[in-house]
Amino acid sequence: MTCSKCLRFPVPTSNYEELAIDIKGHATLYLCKTCNQLIKMVEEERAPHYLSHNEAQQQFPDAVLPPRRRPQ
Ligand SMILES: [Zn+2]
Repeated sequence: MTCSKCLRFPVPTSNYEELAIDIKGHATLYLCKTCNQLIKMVEEERAPHYLSHNEAQQQFPDAVLPPRRRPQ
């Protein structure tokens, strides 16, 4: 689930919280504060990846993820 804000990631930066860093994969996991969407940014890539809760947990096992939101 994405919202109009995180589809424009990474601006505004105040809308995102950094949750975890994958040093090996050169990736950072962000949380959209507006809709709780999990977003992975890989250093060498321009486009963000919008991850599901399960994908984020697998790729960032140390991250403390927010509780899942039920679909409206
Ligand atoms: Zn969002």
